[in-house]
Amino acid sequence: MIDWPTNLVPQVKVEWMKEIPIKFLSFIWRASLGRIPAATELAKRGITVESIQCGYCMAMDESPNHILLNCTFAKTVWEWCNMPQIQLNTVGEPIEYAAKHDTCRKNMKVIINICYSTLWEIWKARNERIFKRLITTPTLVADNIQMTVHTWMKYKSSCPFTNLSPIVTEYDTRIM
Ligand SMILES: [Zn+2]
Repeated sequence: MIDWPTNLVPQVKVEWMKEIPIKFLSFIWRASLGRIPAATELAKRGITVESIQCGYCMAMDESPNHILLNCTFAKTVWEWCNMPQIQLNTVGEPIEYAAKHDTCRKNMKVIINICYSTLWEIWKARNERIFKRLITTPTLVADNIQMTVHTWMKYKSSCPFTNLSPIVTEYDTRIM
């Protein structure tokens, strides 16, 4: 069993919301600890990788923080989400931001949905590029984020989606 150096990674609280399927939450939790198989992490564990360079910008190593936040591709996707207060340095920052965003629980849930689905969809696009050779654009990733948010908000929710929160409507207007 690998002894992860969790003391080196700031712990953040992931909201285990029932609306979000467990496999996505598990990804967010692992991402918050830097435990996703980005190239630098694989190389650290002795796994042979073709290159540790980021396949989008070709300028930096592909670390978890780089691929999900700092890469120009990821930054463009985050800009679509229009959350300027988010510090994009470590994966924990948007996760913490989402949990503290609003005192209203309903609005907070929407922001959490958007942040988590953004992290998930950026990672999914990276995997599809590497494993399926599918090239996508930040705009298409933003479309997928929107669909994921809608799916999660409807999941296990008895209220009609359109009544959930004005934030969703604002978000839809921005992203379209
Ligand atoms: Zn990059």
